[in-house]
Amino acid sequence: MPTVILINLSYTVAAVLFILGLKFLGNPDTARRGNALSSLGMLLAVVVTLLDHAIIDYRWILLGIVAGTLIGAFAARLIAMTAMPELVALFNGFGGIASLLVGCIALSQSQLDRFILLTIFMSIMIGGVTFSGSLVAWGKLSERITGRPLVFNGQRFVNGGLLLANIVCGVMFVQHPEQTLWLVLAVLLSTSLGVMTLLPIGGADMPVVISLLNSYSGLAACAAGFAISNNILIVAGSLVGASGIILTNIMCKAMNRSLANVLFSGFGAASGASKKIEGDVKAISTEDAFYILEAAQSVVVIPGYGMAVAQAQHGVKELQGLLEKNGCEVVYAIHPVAGRMPGHMNVLLAEADVPYDLLLEMDDINPRMETFDVAIVIGANDVVNTAAREIENSPIYGMPIINADYARTVFVLKRSMASGFAGLDNPLFYKDNTRMIFGDAKETVNKLIRELSS
Ligand code: NDP
Repeated sequence: MPTVILINLSYTVAAVLFILGLKFLGNPDTARRGNALSSLGMLLAVVVTLLDHAIIDYRWILLGIVAGTLIGAFAARLIAMTAMPELVALFNGFGGIASLLVGCIALSQSQLDRFILLTIFMSIMIGGVTFSGSLVAWGKLSERITGRPLVFNGQRFVNGGLLLANIVCGVMFVQHPEQTLWLVLAVLLSTSLGVMTLLPIGGADMPVVISLLNSYSGLAACAAGFAISNNILIVAGSLVGASGIILTNIMCKAMNRSLANVLFSGFGAASGASKKIEGDVKAISTEDAFYILEAAQSVVVIPGYGMAVAQAQHGVKELQGLLEKNGCEVVYAIHPVAGRMPGHMNVLLAEADVPYDLLLEMDDINPRMETFDVAIVIGANDVVNTAAREIENSPIYGMPIINADYARTVFVLKRSMASGFAGLDNPLFYKDNTRMIFGDAKETVNKLIRELSS
């Protein structure tokens, strides 16, 4: 069989494996298989690319596979589950710089028509934005750079000017590919744009931005695929580009914010407190909470960012076991943006061996919230903030929330009356059926465990 047919056939198989992989990744039970299938597809694509006559020395490719495998394996082993967004940010950045470099190298091809030159420029520009933007995102998440939005007067004007400069540079690049000046400017301008657009975004919005940058890294790879006429790069890049933008959209919807609001508003910098909330805050001790829990037939646990901070997930699992032993049904209600990254709560609870089928999504749990004796809110705030239903001028009005207040009794485990990420007061804390149990979530859960097991 001629090599070119073999290559394209294998590329088709690899593309099918990518798509199947994505499908399986949609469910926790099949996610591992999905990961394995996608990796197999990528291995096949890389190995088959070796057959292409354009590759001269196979040893470099082998070296690349070995080095990449080692770095990937060590990174996956060493990185804590909670630092996953940072790792993903770095991976996106590497994807971006790879496309940028492929774009630069593609300039040495003999046949360069206008279309190819345009795709080369796109892979350099999008790759550059993705690379530098991802590094800033990584810096903000790992707190090497301040997580606060960095805003200054005329920032949008400066960023708009930078974008315009990138476009002008692209036009000149396509017209004068022989002049190195435009290549150098393309790299400098695109990387500057990446840094400048990320600075005004708050650290807590980084997961959304990372998902967007993930999409950019796919688009850059897709452009690079056109630049070097490689079909599988085009397919893989499009899949990453599309899935990244879908996830970005899901997260924005779950926060009831537009992408423009995430990118340009400096959200998280200012507090949006509005109407005075009426009612008293009723705090109780773990001893008193124990009596209510002991009598409960059904409990729903609503975790949030504070559970991750306190690392209370193992205690929560133990508490679940004790309640179940006492004849109580226990389920978990998971809001799509609880925590600070997509699937944050699912990952933490999976780490503590909580069975997947006990994790219910917001739309499944809300209709039966009234049937629960107790809702235990552990370190969650915005995702149960009833201002989203009750206060029309609240910045989060209309955001879908888990209706914890509909349960017969609500326990809120947090350290103080401090607000959550959105900086807003929460009327839930003042409701008649709410009891605050102040303290670190892990310590409170441990005290409840001691009460229940004695
Ligand atoms: P929040 O940030 O709203 O609230 C977390 C609460 O946890 C705080 O009120 C804090 O109160 C409490 N807390 C912190 N540490 C501890 C501790 N050690 N023990 C007990 N409590 C603690 O979290 P949610 O999960 O409810 O909401 C997530 C927010 O993040 C949403 O606004 C969402 O839009 C946003 N976001 C989420 C993204 C995602 O992908 N998941 C992406 C971008 C943004 P106190 O200090 O009093 O203890």
